[in-house]
Amino acid sequence: MSKFHPASAIQEAYEAGQRVFGESKVQELIEKQAQLPADIEWHFIGHLQTNKIKQLLPYVQLIHGVDSAKLLLEINKEAKKKGLLVNCLLQVHIAQEETKFGFSAEELLHFLQSEPFYQLKHVRISGLMGMATNTTNIETIRAEFKSLKSVFDQLKTSVFSSQNTFTELSIGMSSDYQIAIEEGSTMVRIGSAIFGPRLYQI
Ligand SMILES: *Cc1c(COP(=O)(O)O)cnc(C)c1O
Repeated sequence: MSKFHPASAIQEAYEAGQRVFGESKVQELIEKQAQLPADIEWHFIGHLQTNKIKQLLPYVQLIHGVDSAKLLLEINKEAKKKGLLVNCLLQVHIAQEETKFGFSAEELLHFLQSEPFYQLKHVRISGLMGMATNTTNIETIRAEFKSLKSVFDQLKTSVFSSQNTFTELSIGMSSDYQIAIEEGSTMVRIGSAIFGPRLYQI
């Protein structure tokens, strides 16, 4: 997760072998993409505004955190215009903190069994993404990750049972990635533990 770090820091990680980087602002991702090696895989991680989808699509390999049905429908619409198939992770709200972003487990199941979902041909749901409560209580974090893993397993054997592309569980950041890996993470999103404190704010 290279957000708020300059292209030079990404270049350094690239030279050490890292090829996948995550950004949380569309403009920042596009600017960095233009300056850095072409074989970098860019992930968008964070809340995506619908009016930015069009700009983002040509540059992104995976959108973590598609947090509403409306957003997924809009991504599909723009992808269709461009003839693309866009990989997306659906964000599930697992933390105790109040947020307006993310599906609840019930909403997600309901949506994935609905007609509007079946009609989407230009997005591929590659898995789920979640963020645990920002707490030092390890048991709380573990329980939240476990609950998401169980939703993931349930979907893998039901809605997505005929597809082998529903494979990713994006959980774990600098403070909790070890717990996330123990609970089945396939993708950790590590920022500060690699790059240090974020250098600038937008
Ligand atoms: C910033 C961010 C991260 C990385 O956070 P660190 O604590 O610096 O590792 C991971 N996931 C999301 C969604 C983020 O916004």
